[in-house]
Amino acid sequence: MFDRSRLPDPLAYYESQGLDLTGWGRWRTTRCEFHGGSDSMRINIERGGFCCMNCQEKGGDVLAYDMAIHGGTFVDAAKRLGAWVDDPRDADQVRRRPLPFNPRDALEVLAEDAFFIAYCALYVHHGGMLTDGDRAALLDSAGRVDGIAWKVKP
Ligand SMILES: [Zn+2]
Repeated sequence: MFDRSRLPDPLAYYESQGLDLTGWGRWRTTRCEFHGGSDSMRINIERGGFCCMNCQEKGGDVLAYDMAIHGGTFVDAAKRLGAWVDDPRDADQVRRRPLPFNPRDALEVLAEDAFFIAYCALYVHHGGMLTDGDRAALLDSAGRVDGIAWKVKP
């Protein structure tokens, strides 16, 4: 059976995957292994949730990440992470799933986009010129706000 309490600490897990997490808050920044971006992955070190600000790969816990990176079933990933205890009475394992990216995590990611969009607006208001890169990032932010609103399941 799956025992969530045996999952590794998110910070230790992500570091064991060779990732270098920067920042100090609950959300850390690291490279995205899914599309190869150098600093677009945000990781929640309390719950293990992750979301790439560029390719939008996301999930709600270290299990979701491990399945996305290494493949296999939920049970395979739980075993890899030491969170599986053999129990012949357990018959409902096929119904188990990693946690989806949760709505609260989504709101925190959106908050970052909101600040970025506001920053760009103020910069232009004060006569600044956005670079092509800034404009692309601004459209990405707006697209993420739109996309996350429809894709995150409760
Ligand atoms: Zn990515």
